Amino acid sequence: MSTPIQSVIIVGAGAFGVSTALHFRKLHPYVQVTLIDRIRENRGAASSDHNKIIRADYPDEFYMKLALEAQESWRNNPIYSPYYHETGMLFAEEIGMGRAAFKNFKHLNVDQGATIMSTVEALERFPIFKGANWEDVTENYFNPSSGWGEAHETMESVFRAALAEGVQFLEATVDKLILDPTTRACLGVRTSDGKEIFADRTVLAVGAYTAKVLADTDPRWAELQVDGRMVAAAAIQCTATYPPEEDERLSQAPVHFLGMWHTHGESIPPFKGKLKLNCEVSFTSMTYHDGLKKEISIPPKPESQSTFSHDVCEGLKQEVGNVVKNVYGDHVKGINIESYRMCWDAVSPNQSFIIDYHPACDNLVIAGAGSFHSWKFLPTIGKYVVQRLFNELDDEKKRMWAWDRENEGAACEMYIPSRDVKTIGPFQGWPRTEGTQKSVLPYSESTCQLDGDRDTY
Ligand SMILES: Cc1cc2nc3c(=O)[nH]c(=O)nc-3n(C[C@H](O)[C@H](O)[C@H](O)COP(=O)(O)OP(=O)(O)OC[C@H]3O[C@@H](n4cnc5c(N)ncnc54)[C@H](O)[C@@H]3O)c2cc1C
Repeated sequence: MSTPIQSVIIVGAGAFGVSTALHFRKLHPYVQVTLIDRIRENRGAASSDHNKIIRADYPDEFYMKLALEAQESWRNNPIYSPYYHETGMLFAEEIGMGRAAFKNFKHLNVDQGATIMSTVEALERFPIFKGANWEDVTENYFNPSSGWGEAHETMESVFRAALAEGVQFLEATVDKLILDPTTRACLGVRTSDGKEIFADRTVLAVGAYTAKVLADTDPRWAELQVDGRMVAAAAIQCTATYPPEEDERLSQAPVHFLGMWHTHGESIPPFKGKLKLNCEVSFTSMTYHDGLKKEISIPPKPESQSTFSHDVCEGLKQEVGNVVKNVYGDHVKGINIESYRMCWDAVSPNQSFIIDYHPACDNLVIAGAGSFHSWKFLPTIGKYVVQRLFNELDDEKKRMWAWDRENEGAACEMYIPSRDVKTIGPFQGWPRTEGTQKSVLPYSESTCQLDGDRDTY
């Protein structure tokens, strides 16, 4: 780990990878940076989406401060600001997320104009949600300083900025890391077309594919594996069209998050004439790995099962359909689901990222475990990866993002998966329970059959 850094390979051009590439060249312009992704514009990457929520409303102060820092760039840095829309965000919920954020803002002495309001007040202010399912909503929290970003467009903007700083891009699939036969340090990567690329450091930022790349590298080396440190998981999304006469009032609406026993999801205001909605009850894709000789979660192979398509089982279509119905009801006429997507990310047990040198494999840095909430940190996250590479990360972040850690607390507990895609049957409504969403996740006996070759790796 003590060798100087003159060259670095970054595998994966999602939010973690592309942000790291840009910050690397800005902070250390003498270092040769090679960014590798299997697809130049990968619409299957979690970071490439119709749009994403940008908010500092965290029940956890650490992530609130981090998000406030990122929001500065969203507002003021021309790489990001053209793609940022500060529409506000409404939380109608029973899980106390809004109130916890409200308290944190007070504690940090930050005034974003956030308020807590009754359902009557929320309806007066946002009549667009008149037809929503308000059953059992105990509290509404509104932050006018939150909003959303054009996901694919921002990724392209950062990518262009990285190239302009001198980052070299290679379109290739990394099959495995190259390990020194004696010391087992990471020397670089081998691509599926047989190329070997060497560098002083390798940053693995492949999101939901982290466990697979490490397992493919050396399945017999137990200390190299991800184990329970993160798991590949997805949530179902959809885009929906609506009649032109609804455009004005939909475009004036805030992001709407429903954290209720009957609805776990959100709607993001229209972009390019389409709404995007998520159902946040996540799931794994347990897959037999021939080398490891056991199942780990790996996103399904067919591209259509990680991009917008119709290649999604009925149960999942119904789950996100439930979000559409419960956010807009019949108050907005003519909403039509156009396309579905299983969006795959890596989730850690406390939803904190992993940005750390791999303790068993010298010169390898793992950057990821976005845990369904990291995209908003796109303007800043790479700076911290670079700091970790040069051992400049402050102690708190080093501890929070360590490969080995206690995993105490939770940044976004509701995103933890507790079912597999193969177990998802027809949607019959979520059971009515008290407390957090996590406790309501059902395991269905019936199976969700996906087409295509997806069972083994
Ligand atoms: C349904 C859903 C909704 C979300 N909504 C939000 C939101 O509203 N706001 C927010 O802040 N966050 C949100 N997130 C979280 C956010 O999208 C992710 O945490 C973040 O995008 C992860 O970035 P990444 O760089 O780790 O992974 P990715 O964006 O998935 O990038 C990984 C890259 O690695 C590449 N790759 C993989 N394997 C290889 C290989 N072997 N060789 C070469 N390249 C490879 C892939 O092609 C890909 O481009 C959401 C996540 C999900 C799942």
